[in-house]
Amino acid sequence: MAMALPAPGIRARSSLRAVAEAAVCEAAVGDKHPPYAIIPRASPNHGPRRDGLTPRLIVLHYTAMATADSACARLCDPVAEVSAHYLITESGAIWALVSEDRRAWHAGAGSWGGAEDINSRSIGIELANRGDHPFAAAQMAALERLLPDIMARWDIPSAGVIAHSDMAPGRKSDPGARFDWRRLARGGLSVWPQAPAPLAVDPARFATDARRFGYPDCPPDLLLATLRLRFRPQATGPLDGTDCALIADLAARWPAPPAIPPVDPAAPQA
Ligand SMILES: [Zn+2]
Repeated sequence: MAMALPAPGIRARSSLRAVAEAAVCEAAVGDKHPPYAIIPRASPNHGPRRDGLTPRLIVLHYTAMATADSACARLCDPVAEVSAHYLITESGAIWALVSEDRRAWHAGAGSWGGAEDINSRSIGIELANRGDHPFAAAQMAALERLLPDIMARWDIPSAGVIAHSDMAPGRKSDPGARFDWRRLARGGLSVWPQAPAPLAVDPARFATDARRFGYPDCPPDLLLATLRLRFRPQATGPLDGTDCALIADLAARWPAPPAIPPVDPAAPQA
């Protein structure tokens, strides 16, 4: 794959190159996982992170487009005003669109752990997938190579790897029911609840636990659908004791940390 010339400027270009070189170099020296290459495909769609915020989350998406190339074209189109930090193709190529220190435009409206402006608080990774088929093995393997390095660079915990649907209930449904969250959690790259015994059905407690884990406030049915999309996609029907047990376990083991306040709330927003 040819090395595309990044467009946004010297600083972004050097950051992109540094990330790519660091990834290849670290893999070769540390031998923690197979070497991998990050291919610059610079998008102009980014800005400075606001209020001194740094990434505390990694938001996973699917592209919902026919091919990775068409998704990349859209994510690099200044008219579209959308982007992500990375796009992973179905064959496992990792394309870097926006430097990690910049605010990519991938998350939109929503919140997690009571914090808004998720774009300023996150790294966004798009997985090339139409949304109606399983994720390719090579793509998952590439994601599993990329995630540990991002998590280490920004000190992001496993619970900080979330779905776009988690932070935008009802507005977004990606990466969807076919994404293998359990597999990521087995590798310490996200979280998965233990299979506990069902609890008594308690809608108020369910909502409280969901908020404690990080979900935004939303109507009960939407909250339930959002939780099940990620953790129990085959489940149907009203709230049950297994839903209550799952969210209780998630909230107890991985409560969302308090939202990091802006460094300078009076600073002008970019
Ligand atoms: Zn998305």
